[in-house]
Amino acid sequence: MGTRRKDIFALYVVMYIEGVSFLQEIFRRLVSRKKGEKTMIIVLRPGTKPEDVKRVEQMVMSKGLDIHTVVGEGITIIGCIGDTSCVDSRLFEVETCVDKVMHVQEPYKLANRAFHPEDSVVDVSGVKVGGKHLALIAGPCSVESEEQVIEIARAAKASGANLLRGGAFKPRTSPYSFQGKGLEGLEILCTARQETGLPIVSELMSLEYLDVFDEKVDLIQIGARNMQNFDLLKHLGQTKRPILLKRGLNATYEEWIMAAEYVMAAGNENVILCERGVRTFESYTRNTLDLQAIPVIKTLSHLPIIIDPSHAGGKWWLVEPMAKAAVAAGADGLMIEVHNDPANALCDGSQSLKPEKYDALLKAIARIAPVVGRQV
Ligand code: PEP
Ligand code: MN
Repeated sequence: MGTRRKDIFALYVVMYIEGVSFLQEIFRRLVSRKKGEKTMIIVLRPGTKPEDVKRVEQMVMSKGLDIHTVVGEGITIIGCIGDTSCVDSRLFEVETCVDKVMHVQEPYKLANRAFHPEDSVVDVSGVKVGGKHLALIAGPCSVESEEQVIEIARAAKASGANLLRGGAFKPRTSPYSFQGKGLEGLEILCTARQETGLPIVSELMSLEYLDVFDEKVDLIQIGARNMQNFDLLKHLGQTKRPILLKRGLNATYEEWIMAAEYVMAAGNENVILCERGVRTFESYTRNTLDLQAIPVIKTLSHLPIIIDPSHAGGKWWLVEPMAKAAVAAGADGLMIEVHNDPANALCDGSQSLKPEKYDALLKAIARIAPVVGRQV
């Protein structure tokens, strides 16, 4: 008998002996592979001793899996990475230090809340994003001049903003539109930071300037159009600077979190997500603000999420109601375009708030925040 025929014969014999349970097992494995069940997490009981953690880790590794252990305040979680479909979870469940064993279906690990039950707090040069305090980012769409940025920065700070935004490199739909002041714009932002003490946020569009941004910018923004620029994302691991990752115009939650995973897998876990409206059939507004993103992201991931109502609606008068709703829905912060002369702004004037309107908005936010356990 040829080898192939022998194999088939052996298969028949095993099926005869094992019967239905054998078929069920094959089916279970096929289904679990199809669903992409490749990751498993082992949640250890509070107070598990380090030597017990090590022992369970070794058990996992002896099955040919990689580990990613997260030691939280109360619990320790061991992420088992690799093909876990053939590993019997009961093997671990019998250990007294093991609380539960769960299969994780999502393709992201580092950004996954299952691996990291506590909310992440990202430190942007002393401003905590996530946790109790709201990140309040304000400033013009693009840096136009030193006087403009400093005037806006001073007013925004007096109203309660804690981070200053401004685009030096602008992603414009038309090549004939103002493209930003480039490196000169970054210098202006640095001067404004010196004048006001506000850490600065600016958009990086090209790898060419990563080192300069790493040196000068406190929070590096990756814009909606670059959310899936995987080469750029991979290189963001070269810096430990926090990254503000805006949601792509038509990105699903999973695609967005996977983009964050790229940055985290490259070695930079300081990622903040920013919902800025998605493209829908509606053309009255610039985009449609997806406030559901807040509770969904908070369920799927531990990363902070902030809302940009300016680019969502594209109209200044939509900013206040949407910003209030975002805070009420649990956002970790707001990014709002503020301009001292919106009618003459070089970019996005129609969605920019005048400083006095921004001031009124933050007064309203200060009243809403405590209701949802936040401080301004
Ligand atoms: C911006 O913040 O100025 C910007 C261009 O945003 P987005 O990438 O969300 O369009
Ligand atoms: Mn803008």
